[in-house]
Amino acid sequence: MEKIVSLCKRRGFIFQGSEIYGGLAGTYDWGHFGLALKNNIKNSWWKKFVDSRRDMYGIDAAILMRQEVWQKAGHVENFADLMVECEKCKKKFRADLIEENKCEECGGKLGEAKQFNMMFATKVGASEDSSAISYLRPETAQGMFVNFKNTVDAFHPKLPFGLAQIGKAFRNEITPRDFLFRQREFEQMEIEYFVRPPETAHSYEIRNDTKVRKEEEKEEWEKYFEYWKDEMMEWMEEVGIDMSKVHDIDIAKEDLAHYSKRTTDFEFEYPFGQKELFGLAYRTDFDLKNHGLDYVDEEEGKKITPHVIEPTFGVDRAVLALLLSVYTEDTSTSLSAGDKDGEARTYLKFKPNIAPVICAVSPLLKNKPELVEYANTKVFAPLKTEFGRVIWDDNGNIGKRYRRQDEIGTPFCIVVDFDTLEDNTVTVRDRDTGNQERVKVEELKNYLKNKIN
Ligand code: ATP
Repeated sequence: MEKIVSLCKRRGFIFQGSEIYGGLAGTYDWGHFGLALKNNIKNSWWKKFVDSRRDMYGIDAAILMRQEVWQKAGHVENFADLMVECEKCKKKFRADLIEENKCEECGGKLGEAKQFNMMFATKVGASEDSSAISYLRPETAQGMFVNFKNTVDAFHPKLPFGLAQIGKAFRNEITPRDFLFRQREFEQMEIEYFVRPPETAHSYEIRNDTKVRKEEEKEEWEKYFEYWKDEMMEWMEEVGIDMSKVHDIDIAKEDLAHYSKRTTDFEFEYPFGQKELFGLAYRTDFDLKNHGLDYVDEEEGKKITPHVIEPTFGVDRAVLALLLSVYTEDTSTSLSAGDKDGEARTYLKFKPNIAPVICAVSPLLKNKPELVEYANTKVFAPLKTEFGRVIWDDNGNIGKRYRRQDEIGTPFCIVVDFDTLEDNTVTVRDRDTGNQERVKVEELKNYLKNKIN
């Protein structure tokens, strides 16, 4: 973890929030490459779960919502963790994360556990009375439920269908820790997938002149629960998360959230233990019922309240699990010239479509105007226009540039040398193998396109 945290800072991925004033616990600021990585992850998610489907509707709801939303959703009462305080040093801990019954910091005695609501309260407008209270949303989910009717009225979707949202969520975590894993401000990618309620979702058969439900059939929500479990795993693999470190765990009944009847957590083997990465919950009709929302079912000709399957993904935990999956140290000496300097080589093995930078372009020597001119106008400019995520790197010798790009996870480094001026070919060096090949400048775009897809 320490190596990854320091690489993220050194290479401009992720910085501690408010760092120059000593840092604000549980907040991080995203630098240029981290932001590119995060955007690529979000885009890949949106493409798979929204753009390529016919049954999904995107939404971007306001972060501030009326307090009634959180009262009705049960969060004002229930969105709390049990907290314990050390009687000696006064440090606070989440009761369920304490391993031994004493203070992790000073070994002191812990006081009685108390409920601590994790929502950040704020006031909307100038009024001081309690009606002005609002909360920064602790999950994006409610923004979708409260727009259920708007979506149905605007698009007339048939069940099953879903709403999808990517956005910030805020939780006043008692002990933010483990880099991106437990923050106070983070991002979620969530889907609320609405299915027929159990009583209307079955096929029937006539037995002895009576209509009876086919027994062997699974409930509608059970079918979609399994379906979304597979979809979630497929996406994790697509994005490049090491699936050998992912485990799906069914949550015991007594540990379920207040809104859920069944939850499967996808846990990841982080260096600090196997913990939640993403979750999949069957939220029943809890939310729509509480908000008083329903749906007119044309097939049945009556009002029904759909049930909900919720696949939820933390963007930041996705980034962390991905960084841990792609971080590689290579001590082999089989790399080609320019790569060997006897040190372990560190590289991030991102898939090209997820990597923050697709390729770096360099003139072999930065003090040879003819090389710089060629590299800039004939290679860098057209590739930058085509792909965007292309950078110019002429700092230090070629070996140093490769090392730097390896740490950023750039899959291809393109070098313009004296041969280029003669034959219009460039060297393309592969991040993972260190292999170099000569590629015609006019074929570069297609060469890279084929590698990205
Ligand atoms: P935990 O038990 O770790 O506190 P949770 O079960 O409360 O997590 P959910 O309410 O299911 O988490 O939130 C959905 C997703 O949001 C999680 O799977 C995770 O990826 C992400 N997430 C939740 N809390 C945080 C946090 N404090 N920092 C970063 N990501 C988070």
